[in-house]
Amino acid sequence: MLYQRRAIGIGLNNPIPRFTNIVVLTNPLTVIEKPKSKDYYYIVRTDQLRAFIDKSKSFSCQKNLPSPTSIIHEIVKYHKPAAIDIYKRYNIDPKETMPMKERIKFDITKRVYICVFCNNQMVLQKNRNGLFWGCSNYPQCKNLVPAGVAAQVGKETREEYVRKQNFFTALFSSPPKLCPVCGNVLELKKGRKGEYWECSSKQLCNYKKW
Ligand SMILES: [Zn+2]
Ligand SMILES: [Zn+2]
Repeated sequence: MLYQRRAIGIGLNNPIPRFTNIVVLTNPLTVIEKPKSKDYYYIVRTDQLRAFIDKSKSFSCQKNLPSPTSIIHEIVKYHKPAAIDIYKRYNIDPKETMPMKERIKFDITKRVYICVFCNNQMVLQKNRNGLFWGCSNYPQCKNLVPAGVAAQVGKETREEYVRKQNFFTALFSSPPKLCPVCGNVLELKKGRKGEYWECSSKQLCNYKKW
């Protein structure tokens, strides 16, 4: 919470008010024991807030306050973009901060998942956290995407493809059906109970649908 404490002059026409932080505790049952230090003066309970502001007004400068817009313009003049390279500083590969959905794409004609970082094929794998698509160029490329995310990307790609198809292309090409668990292509199989769809990565994912 901010309130105007007193104006300090930066330029004669545009004094910038000084702002002060107040910590407001919302639980009405809170007991605040303040040591007699100035640092604790700005901690109040919600029910004390009104009285606190009224009291503070008496020592704040309310006369000739500039408009909020002019205050903003004045403050913006002091804005400088941060010169720190966060990625370098903490040794982070910028790719690692990329959303999972953007790290993989589904090639609907080749029916494979492609790594967006290095354009190599992604391979379905399993570890103790579950199914994931990892780049076949590992360890050079460490891209990996959870199977559920890949399935969503595949589904969206398929839906977009279907939407864009016209009558003639629809006659010649049918997009693959995709597994809702891992995103891999489903295969039509025949069993005793009739035809069913099975995930092509049978060893890792046991999705089946009749
Ligand atoms: Zn890769
Ligand atoms: Zn599957």
